[in-house]
Amino acid sequence: MESKPYNPFHVAQAQFDKVAKMLNLEDGVRELLREPLREYQFVIPVRMDGGGVKIFKGFRVQHNDARGPAKGGIRFHPHETIDTVRALSMWMTWKCSVVDIPLGGGKGGIVCDPHHLSAREQEQLCRGWVRQIAKNVGPFQDVPAPDVMSNAQHMLWMLDEFEVIHNGRFPGFITGKPVGLGGSLGRTEATGFGVIFTLREALKEHGVDIAKTTASLQGFGNVSQNAFKLYDELGGKVIAISCWDQADKTSYTFKKKSGAGFQELLAITDTFGGIDKNKARDCGYEVLPGEAWIEQEVDILIPAALENQINKDNAGKISSKVKFIAEGANGPTTPEADEVIKSKGIFVIPDFLANAGGVTCSYFEQVQCNMNYFWEKREVLEKLDQKMTSAFTAVSELSKQKSLYMRDAAYVIAIDRVARAVKARSWV
Ligand code: NAD
Repeated sequence: MESKPYNPFHVAQAQFDKVAKMLNLEDGVRELLREPLREYQFVIPVRMDGGGVKIFKGFRVQHNDARGPAKGGIRFHPHETIDTVRALSMWMTWKCSVVDIPLGGGKGGIVCDPHHLSAREQEQLCRGWVRQIAKNVGPFQDVPAPDVMSNAQHMLWMLDEFEVIHNGRFPGFITGKPVGLGGSLGRTEATGFGVIFTLREALKEHGVDIAKTTASLQGFGNVSQNAFKLYDELGGKVIAISCWDQADKTSYTFKKKSGAGFQELLAITDTFGGIDKNKARDCGYEVLPGEAWIEQEVDILIPAALENQINKDNAGKISSKVKFIAEGANGPTTPEADEVIKSKGIFVIPDFLANAGGVTCSYFEQVQCNMNYFWEKREVLEKLDQKMTSAFTAVSELSKQKSLYMRDAAYVIAIDRVARAVKARSWV
């Protein structure tokens, strides 16, 4: 039998349906929450450097804003689809809810590959995205942020365009801005550090000394680099790391049994998180196929690249040594793979809990912008640690109390809060 193509929105809905049933949600609430409230699709014309105009496709989806303005990144990716954006916006609703910040869920995207766009073309793309959606986003409606292949410079161009259109200064319109121009210290580290704060707590609960653990990571971009950095500082050893090779249009895994060097790898990595394979070989790394990251005999797996990376075809290859998975990426594990992971007795820190550090720090960025007073990095990271630790503890307690899989426990807490908000507002 031919298997259906992976659709992240169907995965997000399947995960929701399962928990909605457990929570015994009324039909109206269930129907409301399994769909986005609003979605926008548009085109963005860009005058290209080489002459002529190219048309790019743009999206913004607002899944739910009952608990506060929608919040979520804008992803630049050549394979972006509306269903990916729908799924990501829904996961944002649960993410903001599980860490209990007063924001809802949204997500955006542009179908593009910034590797092949000049800085001027990227600027036009960012400004064009804002022009098409400026009336439906804003500090009190929907607040964008960076995501895969978008960065602080892109956010600043977007802010600037929004401020031209609305004739004023609105630093709360977007987060992930450069420090000194409304950005928060610690935002760069926030998602990756948040992953490790939750992992640290999970290891502590299981009586495992982090300094005696090994890990294999997928991705070497913003999330993975910062997760690697803090894990390394806490004494953990990264053995393997996989990332995309733009020139070869495939991924590779870089392995060093004695332990990969964070600074060593960073020095041979491009701005998109691609490691130079020839230089890696010179530094003593084995260069293996991209999928090899998942088969490593390590204690911890940290998928931090894209969705659908642990699936029914490869979950069986996870080594019996692996005891923890901390999901840095959004939606890296399919429901079929979850069943395999459960049967192997692996402890999972689910994506929307593990990687909630980014949006939590974005919330801190908004708070600081509103006060026009900015905290020191230490203060930001301390507050982040507190939020992540208490969210992890609540999920883990519920998981133990009710014998729930960690993903289900996180969903129960998150969905219940949003369901209460839509009911309290009498939306259903
Ligand atoms: P990024 O663009 O900085 O890095 C992505 C990394 O993944 C790169 O190293 C790239 O080479 C690698 N990659 C891409 N395709 C791959 C493949 N097929 N195999 C192996 N590696 C591959 O992105 P990021 O910001 O680090 O985001 C990574 C994931 O984390 C995404 O799922 C994103 O939605 C999620 N996330 C990001 C943030 C954030 O604050 N940046 C917050 C929450 C969740």
